[in-house]
Amino acid sequence: MKKYVPPVIMLAVFETIAVTLWLTKGNIFYLLNFSYIGCSIALGMFLLIRKHRHARRIVQLLVGLYMLIYLGLICGENMQIEGFWYYLFTGVFEAATIHYAVAKIFGPLLFGRGWCGYACWTAMVLDFLPYKTPSKPRKKLGWIRYITFAASLIFVAALFLAHVGNLERIMFWAFVIGNVLYYAVGIILAYAFQDNRAFCKYICPITVFLKPMSYYALARVKCDREKCISCGKCRRVCPMDVDVTDNSRKRENGTECILCMECVKNCPRGAL
Ligand code: SF4
Ligand code: SF4
Ligand code: SF4
Repeated sequence: MKKYVPPVIMLAVFETIAVTLWLTKGNIFYLLNFSYIGCSIALGMFLLIRKHRHARRIVQLLVGLYMLIYLGLICGENMQIEGFWYYLFTGVFEAATIHYAVAKIFGPLLFGRGWCGYACWTAMVLDFLPYKTPSKPRKKLGWIRYITFAASLIFVAALFLAHVGNLERIMFWAFVIGNVLYYAVGIILAYAFQDNRAFCKYICPITVFLKPMSYYALARVKCDREKCISCGKCRRVCPMDVDVTDNSRKRENGTECILCMECVKNCPRGAL
């Protein structure tokens, strides 16, 4: 039964957030929202422990579709980085600011880049593409993320400085157009670099938050050096080019690990 403790802990963390926000904000939406996400993630972890082949994909679809279709398109919440800046500038701790605080800023201290492996609606689509493991070495293009990060901030700041009206509506359309752009660029890059996760590695502005926070993550894949035979299979199956045999926090591409567990599943010696 000990192996089922992590999903129970994860569910407890999300339920604590759900109840705290429900009581402090006086809005039952937070209880339902975070309970749903917590249950989906706990279910995924449970299925992963049971070695279900599609465990990760099931959570990705449960959470990703809920956020994209229900929260984004039906409720009109911009949950992308522009939405985060927007709510931050208006000084409202709602929607996107809460989402970023939980999933992308403080949450990664606990679960690293679990968001990228199990919940992101952009990767939910990109992971359907054929290049699940990169066949070519990683390119030195990670600097582009700082440009997209700055562009998102400048875009929202400019709207505020120009006193543009009806910002709620603009934010909704920014969400729609932003997502179409993300998918288009993500798919083109995946085919160009033969790597489903090229967008995550080079373009995604959210990694500017995710990478430094996940450096300190509690949940990490570790290698038992006594069992490891240095066959290199873990590296070959890793979609993010992480050197998981190095237990140091400074391991190569360490802040890129999305906890997908492909290395763990494929290690012939059970060293991970
Ligand atoms: S890097 Fe960006 S696009 Fe990729 S999974 Fe993470 S948040 Fe989503
Ligand atoms: S797959 Fe396992 S045995 Fe092979 S290098 Fe990685 S950790 Fe070591
Ligand atoms: S294969 Fe292993 S090291 Fe690579 S992203 Fe997945 S969990 Fe992390």
